[in-house]
Amino acid sequence: MRHIAIIGSGPAGYYSAEAAQKKFGEDVAVDIIDRLPVPFGLIRTGVAPDHQSIKAVSRRYEKTNLGDNVRFVGNVTVGEDVSVAELQELYDAVVLATGAPADRVLDIPGSDLDGVIGSAAFVGWYNGHPDFKDLDPPLDATSVAIIGNGNVALDVARILAKTENEFAGSDIVGHALDGLQQSKVEKITFLGRRGPHQIAMTPKELGELGQLERARPVVEGRDLPDEGDDALLEPGMRKAVTHLRNFHIAAADAQHKPIEIIFDFFAMPVEVQGDGRVEKLIVEKTALDKGLRSIGTGERYELECQMVISCIGYRTPPIEGVPYEHGRGRFANIDGRILPGLYCVGWARRGPSGTIGTNKPDGFTIVDAIAEDIGSGDRKEGRAGLDRLLEQRGVETVTFRDWKKIEEAEIARAREGAPREKFTDIADMIAARD
Ligand code: NAP
Repeated sequence: MRHIAIIGSGPAGYYSAEAAQKKFGEDVAVDIIDRLPVPFGLIRTGVAPDHQSIKAVSRRYEKTNLGDNVRFVGNVTVGEDVSVAELQELYDAVVLATGAPADRVLDIPGSDLDGVIGSAAFVGWYNGHPDFKDLDPPLDATSVAIIGNGNVALDVARILAKTENEFAGSDIVGHALDGLQQSKVEKITFLGRRGPHQIAMTPKELGELGQLERARPVVEGRDLPDEGDDALLEPGMRKAVTHLRNFHIAAADAQHKPIEIIFDFFAMPVEVQGDGRVEKLIVEKTALDKGLRSIGTGERYELECQMVISCIGYRTPPIEGVPYEHGRGRFANIDGRILPGLYCVGWARRGPSGTIGTNKPDGFTIVDAIAEDIGSGDRKEGRAGLDRLLEQRGVETVTFRDWKKIEEAEIARAREGAPREKFTDIADMIAARD
């Protein structure tokens, strides 16, 4: 019997478990350990609440958990309740699938002012992550700056701009829905340090901005490159840029929509200013060098705003004793191998890029590596040893069956038309299974 511990129950963790099931059949016991009492990581607390079709992938992960050889062990923090070294003693392979839940740091003066928020916190807040439920973003802001031109920036802008009606069928948590309905926002500005041809937004997600009830995307014609140059783009990028062109063309017809979502390209924030709380951003105009990197031109201007949300990417928090690549914010690894018996997968391996589906081949690749490295196993104690350790330490674990009870309770307390109302407090989650 092979014993595998996977740390993290998001897409990377579940695809790895599924791959192990397929590769080893009954001859493997997989424990998926998560710090929260509820599974699915990014699917639950990262994917936007109005993108329910993407969240539906959790049904596939649920199937992985139906067999006896895969266990969910919730409410266990690796590094506190049990160390990586202890897990390595107990399991043939330990796979870190911890994602990249921390913000890449916005390293400019004034970024510690009140009202400057990282996307991990803001997304966690509207998705009911227990760590961020008390964020209390300044929703009295009339002008919000969003730094970054990626899909997370798009999610954040869309959530800020939507009406209550547009959240029908979503699982946005009650505190966020209530807060957003009091929002005073009139202007949302994306600050992209490069141009329209360098956005990291995908076409489907970008297209949604053109369909909002009360908000209109604003793209200045002067920022758009010659249309002929679009031919050089790969097809997805070309489609995305076509959306930007269409936003520019449609602007006149959308004047009645009160919220502006402005694309400010070649714009690099260099300082946040304000008296205790953000009042403005100092922005430097940029140009592209030959390598298509942004370089400051020295020309600066001010953008008044009362909230800044930086959506500039994420990093994997280090874990004691695990080699780490600080520059790239991920575990040091070669094709997912960190040390003998220790692996990483998903964003913890490759950094925060790609879609949820990218984690599927990742999971299969890491299981192939494990198969190559550990042979048939049979040397380690596995889950019985973990259970003994956790019991000795008084750690109250949550099983998949418990999760199903928590889920039932979340469904039962949903507002009309919503799939669930998430518990945002760990104690409430645990109480709901009893
Ligand atoms: P991302 O796609 O890497 O975008 C980050 C953006 O931040 C880029 O525009 C980048 O500009 C900019 N940036 C980075 N550092 C900066 C700095 N210091 N100052 C100013 N701008 C800076 O990251 P993300 O939006 O967090 O998304 C993470 C991953 O999740 C992506 O693969 C994304 O597609 C995926 N995702 C998908 C969906 C969906 O499919 N619905 C939703 C959310 C996220 P440069 O290009 O110049 O570096």
